[in-house]
Amino acid sequence: MTIKDFFTSLNKDLDKNQARDFAWLLVNRTKKEPIDWGVATITTKEQTAIKRELKRLKQGEPLGYVLGFVPFVNCEIKVTPDVLIPRSETEQLCDMIIQEYEGVPTTILDLCTGSGCIAVSLAKNLDARVTATDISEQAIKIATQNALANFAQVDFYNCDLFGDKLGKFDLIVSNPPYLDKKEMENLPHSVKDFEPSLALYGGEDGLDFYRRLVKEAPQHLNNGGIMYLEVGDFQADKVVEILSKEFDCEIVADYYGFDRFVIARSRK
Ligand code: GLN
Repeated sequence: MTIKDFFTSLNKDLDKNQARDFAWLLVNRTKKEPIDWGVATITTKEQTAIKRELKRLKQGEPLGYVLGFVPFVNCEIKVTPDVLIPRSETEQLCDMIIQEYEGVPTTILDLCTGSGCIAVSLAKNLDARVTATDISEQAIKIATQNALANFAQVDFYNCDLFGDKLGKFDLIVSNPPYLDKKEMENLPHSVKDFEPSLALYGGEDGLDFYRRLVKEAPQHLNNGGIMYLEVGDFQADKVVEILSKEFDCEIVADYYGFDRFVIARSRK
């Protein structure tokens, strides 16, 4: 059977998003681009395996978990349900930092590293000494595997935010959990039932981590140190209000036009 016939036979009862994910699944599993699907064939064994994965997609499981990895900057990041699936906004945050610090020796701390996507992509693309922490032991295991697989050197610590062993850094980067209570209750099924709530929930109003950062970050930043933070929809102003006690802040929008990042420059 050609891949095209296989795709068409199963594509019928999928909605638009599922069809797109199914197409990605097929490209990744068969290593054949859609342009070749009319002539390339698919074995029965491959069909059975892919049908099993398609069933998971239909149940609402995100493609990243079904495939087991996502592309991120120029890295391949392994993901399991123990870690958040890296989002394109976070990729934009890393691209921004890579452009800014290319060729500049820097020390970087990535807090709430999860899959390690931020730490790994920065270590791979910058002349930087990168440290990363996460409260989840499982996440640190995945992040460590991601660093190794991408030939990136990162020092990982399993601790709550800064723990008690960390020194000072030029940059602190974080995409902390920032959803509020209401957003947690209204999450789409694919997030609610599959992604770890530990990586998503930022307290009653979603801002707990930024409140901790304004207290704990200054002693971990070198003079002139900077924080690059991702924030939730409509949170940027509130985060700036919290951080302005210690930092000069700038808000940057993401490609969708949402105020998504806060760059906080230390005043000392
Ligand atoms: N740093 C990881 C990411 O950006 C995990 C974030 C988190 O767990 N809140 O995807």
